[in-house]
Amino acid sequence: MRIEVDQKKCTGCGLCREVCPKGAKIWDVNKKAKAKNLEFCHVCTICASKCPERAIRVVRE
Ligand code: SF4
Ligand code: SF4
Repeated sequence: MRIEVDQKKCTGCGLCREVCPKGAKIWDVNKKAKAKNLEFCHVCTICASKCPERAIRVVRE
């Protein structure tokens, strides 16, 4: 799986990191959000549903 963040839409608000159960491990938010260490991701899609800009796409493969 992968997590895509639309860099044009992301405002860097950090909500994805706050709401993610493994936010500290997965989300790197420095002006823009980036998902890393996806081995910790449960694919719960909370990040995508809570992003106010609808910038996150969780892609299951
Ligand atoms: S919640 Fe959305 S807008 Fe906010 S930092 Fe995360 S990806 Fe960017
Ligand atoms: S899908 Fe769930 S576990 Fe994975 S990054 Fe988003 S909120 Fe975190």
